[in-house]
Amino acid sequence: MVSLKRNSKGELVEATGLRSRESSIYTPLQTEPFRLSRSKFNDFLSCQRCFYLDRVKGIVSPSMPGWTLNETTDVLLKKEFDVCREQQIPHRICEEAGLDHIVPFQHEDMDKWRNSLHGGLAHQIDGTNIILHGGVDDIWYDQQTEEVIVVDYKSQANKYRVEQESYLAGVYHQSYKIQLEVYAYLLTKMGFKVSPTGYFYVCNADRNADGFFGKMLFEETLVAYEWNSDWIEEKLFAMLKILNSDVIPEHNQSCENCAYSHQRARLENKKRIPPNRPPPPDHWP
Ligand code: SF4
Repeated sequence: MVSLKRNSKGELVEATGLRSRESSIYTPLQTEPFRLSRSKFNDFLSCQRCFYLDRVKGIVSPSMPGWTLNETTDVLLKKEFDVCREQQIPHRICEEAGLDHIVPFQHEDMDKWRNSLHGGLAHQIDGTNIILHGGVDDIWYDQQTEEVIVVDYKSQANKYRVEQESYLAGVYHQSYKIQLEVYAYLLTKMGFKVSPTGYFYVCNADRNADGFFGKMLFEETLVAYEWNSDWIEEKLFAMLKILNSDVIPEHNQSCENCAYSHQRARLENKKRIPPNRPPPPDHWP
């Protein structure tokens, strides 16, 4: 994909490939608190090299277009849930699922926790300077167990009906589970009693409809997920070790971006790099 850098007025500007905001860049062995988002933690889990180049060396990845259709289902669901939150009544999908004892959680920080850019759930990892944060889609409350429940809205367009088991087993949904587990971890660390069951509220667009007719129909499914955050701290400390190192980690051999970059380097540098062999480190992004 060709990604051209534009300013807020939509004008083309020079793409430097470097971050300009110093607060985004970590200096190895720094002691000042450093805010790191859930999505960057996920980057670390996917490719330590890209994570390091981004957070320590300030090299920025090409931007992606916004997912405005998906975001719109989130925005509209939030409106629905806020009405139920105000009245402390179960949402229609909870009633349909026999979860009448579950209502949207009411808390003065709810808007802050849902704002991934200016707040989010946040916790400074014990014994470190890393503040892990992430904007949650919603939090519900179980009136029987007095536990909070992590909820993530997901939108998709799949011709197959959403079934809990296959949804959770889907290869592209593993990062969703990580996402929910990080939110559950953060809420636990923030002192909340968190339900062992979280939910994905999946909105699946109907691709088999007779036509568009100015609207898209969605089937909604609640997918329950028994989360487990036991693995998170070990990975966080591994991430901190990488941040504090001056060695650039290995790349992910399945990454198409790196393969593309490698092949470009071969051609443009006219070096005799075998097609399938990693180039010398100085040729990597
Ligand atoms: S393999 Fe290369 S391009 Fe891909 S994520 Fe890692 S460093 Fe980035």
